[in-house]
Amino acid sequence: MTPEPPLRLHLDSEALVANWQRLDALSGKARAGAAVKADAYGLGARRVAKVLADAGCRDFFVAYAGEAAELDGVIDPAAIRVLHGPLSDDDTAYMKQAGLRPTINSLAQAARWLKAVGGACDLMVDTGINRLGLPMEDLGNELVGRLNVCTMMSHLASADEDSPLNAQQCARWTEARAAVQARDYSLANSAGIVLGAEYHGTLTRPGLALYGGVPRAELTGEVASVAKPAAMIMQVRDLSAGDTVGYNATFTAPRPMRVGVVALGYADGFLRCWSGKGMLRSNGCELPVLGRVSMDMTVIDLSAAPTLSEGDWVEMDYDLPQASHVSGLSQYELLTLLGRRFSR
Ligand SMILES: *Cc1c(COP(=O)(O)O)cnc(C)c1O
Repeated sequence: MTPEPPLRLHLDSEALVANWQRLDALSGKARAGAAVKADAYGLGARRVAKVLADAGCRDFFVAYAGEAAELDGVIDPAAIRVLHGPLSDDDTAYMKQAGLRPTINSLAQAARWLKAVGGACDLMVDTGINRLGLPMEDLGNELVGRLNVCTMMSHLASADEDSPLNAQQCARWTEARAAVQARDYSLANSAGIVLGAEYHGTLTRPGLALYGGVPRAELTGEVASVAKPAAMIMQVRDLSAGDTVGYNATFTAPRPMRVGVVALGYADGFLRCWSGKGMLRSNGCELPVLGRVSMDMTVIDLSAAPTLSEGDWVEMDYDLPQASHVSGLSQYELLTLLGRRFSR
């Protein structure tokens, strides 16, 4: 048997369920689904979806068709919405055979879907983000009229800011609702949920906040952290005053110090922006990063926890708003970049 890697990503399923329930409640009359694209933002789509489905979540969003394979046997294919839609004829055939629900993003996709299948789909209307999505002026096209639309949705560009674009997009989406007959109407991502009832429709699509991210101040204290990454101390060393640490010797010990070499590096998503700043933790003790982060290891100061020894585990400081502030990475990046070497 392959031994367990020296990196673990613990998923706090109770916090995940509590976050979803809270976001569902904050969604008012709408129900909350779950964005589980990109392997549930790096946390493991299969187990995240299973936990959420057991808690009552009925709508799951992936980016492209192949991502649905992760959910095989866990989630009813008809509950899996493929946001990028049918990108090719192969894609279309796969979705048809698997019973997945595509999001139609353009007239070309509408034509492709109608020709091959013509069954239930979702429709993404572009109301100002100018990314994927059917332009408003195409809403009256006869191809759109022939679609069997379950959810008519749009996506906000600046929900995490107080931007006039939010109200503009909300107004265009409301206009589009009048033009498209659908079972569900959906606009809000995590941040959009707290913009007000007019953004809710009948279904919301949180991702980041489910996983403990806080994209808007209104969500502070409403969601708890879910990802708990940890790594093993592989070696403990005693430095003398004047010794340097790591590549390019960017840290010099000002005094004798006990340091730990941790099995966590930029290949694991602990990027070099953490060099010389940030910290790992053990039982609340702060263990500052010393010198450069290497590909597979990082050196930390053990002064605050002198009893730690080789084989002990230390936690990454993954309070997302705080970690984002220190590292300069977005909360989304902090989650999605956690590497494949973590046992999940
Ligand atoms: C990623 C995504 C979401 C989730 O967004 P968060 O900001 O993570 O809540 C919702 N809808 C669409 C279309 C997305 O691409």
